Amino acid sequence: MKLLNELRSRENRMLGLMRDLVELESPSHDKAAVDRCTGLVERLCKGMGGRVRRHLRKEFGDLLEARFGRDGRGVKPVMVLGHLDTVWEVGTLKKMPFKVARGRVWGPGTLDMKSGAAMALTAIGYLLETKMLDRPVILLLVSDEEIGSVASRPLTEELAQECEAVYVVEPAQGLEGAYKTQRKGVGGYTVHVKGVAAHSGVDFESGHSAIAELARQVGVIQGFTEPSRGITVNVGTIAGGTRSNVIAAEARAEVDVRIAKAADAERVDKRFRRLHVFDRFCALRVEGGMNRPPMERTRGTAALFRRAATLAQAMGLDLKEAATGGGSDGNFTSALGVPTLDGMGAVGEGAHALHESVLLKELASRTALLAAMLLKPEG
Ligand SMILES: [Zn+2]
Repeated sequence: MKLLNELRSRENRMLGLMRDLVELESPSHDKAAVDRCTGLVERLCKGMGGRVRRHLRKEFGDLLEARFGRDGRGVKPVMVLGHLDTVWEVGTLKKMPFKVARGRVWGPGTLDMKSGAAMALTAIGYLLETKMLDRPVILLLVSDEEIGSVASRPLTEELAQECEAVYVVEPAQGLEGAYKTQRKGVGGYTVHVKGVAAHSGVDFESGHSAIAELARQVGVIQGFTEPSRGITVNVGTIAGGTRSNVIAAEARAEVDVRIAKAADAERVDKRFRRLHVFDRFCALRVEGGMNRPPMERTRGTAALFRRAATLAQAMGLDLKEAATGGGSDGNFTSALGVPTLDGMGAVGEGAHALHESVLLKELASRTALLAAMLLKPEG
């Protein structure tokens, strides 16, 4: 297929772009660093003739909105959605340098998801240069996805509502590189317990241990898990107490919640709100709630996948479909009812891990598939 060959011939350029993006390290909490990476993409988008808006953010990196192709005439745009922040601190490159070796591209943020950004820019750039782009495309790259997207969510939701579909260029699932049509919703709770401090030797009876209370609560909370409904609840951290001979006055636990169905958000929330103390001299306070709604496999999303699978087949690719427990910004757009297809970025493994890497042989074909999906469907 012509598209595939054309993108193969651009593979080296794409690798150069990936290198530039990876070498501008961009941990979510470091605004200046994220802004440097965003600045590079901003210049590239302008060079491609994009209409670029940089949405300034004070505490987090700025958000980049770039529009390509002609607007209007009743054709809704498609959105290509991704993020430029990573989980890797500045300086990680020293121990994890960008390199191409053993059929893979290695380095911090390669898979999650600077290669996705490079693929999007390459696909859009190709369609523009060949004058093939036949509908408007909005590229939105945010700066805070790895820390919950609080600063970018309103913009993501606002722009998504203009769009016919959202393509998320997060990594594909597993080494077979499945597209993601379902993601769990993600929530977080902190459970604080206050007890009564006392000397554990001299005055044991007058103490009420916040730790002992929390320990009992942990058992209850873990029990909120309902595998058959796709609800999982994990107490991920506990903390409390000051020293071993003091009955603890305070303790807390942080809890991660995943749900498969939006309707279950309330079910789980109620159970947290109904927690009550076993020891009446202790007090309990619950903070938090759901952060990302689940991305459910809607009819619109299923239709997008069918189209992608058909296009993939024509390129000799066997495209699989998968569900994942991890959330992305696709959860937001999907929950608004905008058909959303996720995992359209690179294929690889080791996101957030030392062996983070991207399969080189999948790079051009996945980019070609993304480019084909950006075109108006035939007929
Ligand atoms: Zn990501």
